[in-house]
Amino acid sequence: MKKLIITGILLCMTIAVVGCGNTADDLQLGHSEHDMQLWYNANCQAPRTCGICGYTEGELGDHSVKVGTCIHCNEFQNKDLFDEIKTDLTELTNNLKAANDLLQEKANDPASTEIVYAAAIETVAPDFDKEKAKLENILVLCGEYEELADIKRDVETAVTYFPVKPSEMTSQENKTYITNANMCYMYIMEALIKTQFVS
Ligand SMILES: [Zn+2]
Ligand SMILES: [Zn+2]
Repeated sequence: MKKLIITGILLCMTIAVVGCGNTADDLQLGHSEHDMQLWYNANCQAPRTCGICGYTEGELGDHSVKVGTCIHCNEFQNKDLFDEIKTDLTELTNNLKAANDLLQEKANDPASTEIVYAAAIETVAPDFDKEKAKLENILVLCGEYEELADIKRDVETAVTYFPVKPSEMTSQENKTYITNANMCYMYIMEALIKTQFVS
């Protein structure tokens, strides 16, 4: 019985030693002999660290993300930039909603004539034109940040569809304006929705 207990204890000790990846031999060898496979990469909390003895070398590393919550330190990176993008997208959707609604209402009304379309476009064109600079500025803010690439893509598409008031208000030109305005608005909304996925 006693022998069994001792064997049990020894077994537990072996598991404990193997379990943490350190052996008494490893520790006695000194750091220069430690297995280079067992280094932890540097992050914002610690430099490159030996997994056996805890020896560190070099500088602190990077956060896990450039925009969003870092998994190492839990701090939101580039919060001001991100908040500005979110605020701009919110303002754009708010400011362009009425304009887009008016166009779509006229487009969906079978009684609308070309004169009605033209009048609606005249009404909303200044609202859209006023917001173009803000929309383009979001592209600058997104820059090359990987975490903002999806948002940037939607805003780029919104810019492509940005409605330009036709010089000649033909039936086809008016139709294009109304379609583009709607696509532009939809992509701005889509970009705003995607800000929820950066957290
Ligand atoms: Zn070491
Ligand atoms: Zn961090």
